[in-house]
Amino acid sequence: MADHPFIFSGFGSAAVHGGHEEDPRHAHVTPIYATSTFRFDTAEQGMRRFTGEEPGYIYSRWGNPTFTEAENKIAVLEAFGLNLHVKGLLHASGMAAITTLMLSNLKAGDKILTHYSLYGGTEELVLKVLSQIGIEAIISDLRDLETAEHILKQDKGIKLMYLETPANPTIRCVDIEALTTLAKKYGIKVACDNTFATPYLQQPFRYGVDFVIHSTTKFLNGHGNMIGGILLGRDIDFMKAKVTKTQQLLGGNANPFDAFLLNNGLKTLELRMERHCSNAMTVAEYLAQHPKVSGVNYTGLSSHPDYALAQKQMRLGGGMLSFELKDGFNAGVRFMNRLQMCVRTVSLGTCDTLLCHAASMTHYGIPKEQREQYGITDGLIRMNVGIENSVDIIADLEEALG
Ligand SMILES: *Cc1c(COP(=O)(O)O)cnc(C)c1O
Repeated sequence: MADHPFIFSGFGSAAVHGGHEEDPRHAHVTPIYATSTFRFDTAEQGMRRFTGEEPGYIYSRWGNPTFTEAENKIAVLEAFGLNLHVKGLLHASGMAAITTLMLSNLKAGDKILTHYSLYGGTEELVLKVLSQIGIEAIISDLRDLETAEHILKQDKGIKLMYLETPANPTIRCVDIEALTTLAKKYGIKVACDNTFATPYLQQPFRYGVDFVIHSTTKFLNGHGNMIGGILLGRDIDFMKAKVTKTQQLLGGNANPFDAFLLNNGLKTLELRMERHCSNAMTVAEYLAQHPKVSGVNYTGLSSHPDYALAQKQMRLGGGMLSFELKDGFNAGVRFMNRLQMCVRTVSLGTCDTLLCHAASMTHYGIPKEQREQYGITDGLIRMNVGIENSVDIIADLEEALG
């Protein structure tokens, strides 16, 4: 064997082999370590584990080999080709990862600068929970860099800029590079939710962001059979001390079975994303010419307002799109009811094509005027384009629209 670690030239190879540690019993695939604790050979060893003198596991809320595999694999992928080392911490959900991020970086009196169209849970966390402990959010249109700079200049309380790109429901993007450059000018840390893009399509660390978050529930697992999240950071010391401590005390750790499913799904990330993207492009082009559709939001179409930005910071357009039915609410309900193969549900990032009519589902209880401010109009359908054969996806849409 060579005396240096193997360097992966391809992202797909890194997704298959990256982050793997040899199992002590030589299992090819890292097993599900379904154990709450890890025993010590001697009292002295226990002491060395607790002082950190000897690496090793103690208690699964603090770490577990099945989690480590996912943490290291995703860290390899987010830093792929960047000559950078990042540390990941696996969580019970995307929301748990975001909570650890917020509480390890912010205290009462600090503010977050963020933008419209965040994932609903993130916005609610900020507005309903963090506000109660004195952490305030400023929500603005961060596509407007002048406004962003004006806010940063005025408000010295801002300690974190929080980005999510692309984002619901119209798949709008923010400029990670420009906003990170701006934040650094004012000494502010930047976090980016990379759930919709995945590291295969977009690597926020390339532009100097401090933290990347994922709901691993989505494309990273890819099969819709677990809930999880990861928080990755480039300041290894800060991640190992403050962030790890915060996670351990909040208790938002993952579980070994879900971590195993995540490890399994991650191996095919490149293959799946290529197919998601090529299918999404085919579907977007089909929908764009359909007489019953008044508009299609897909970052891979040159008609999308953020097409140029997406070309710059994303490898391909991604697997998410939305479109508007000309005949509004009732057309949306009728369309959803007529689907046969595609699945009526929320969530995203699965092999299966998933569709959601926001006005009758996720945003049913929200007054029309309010949801329309977010771009959630009566006939808006959100679509996670799956990895089936595009001919079948289009046949199902054609019949449902007919
Ligand atoms: C789903 C999602 C989350 C929340 O993740 P959970 O795993 O459901 O907790 C956060 N951000 C984005 C963009 C998401 O799609």
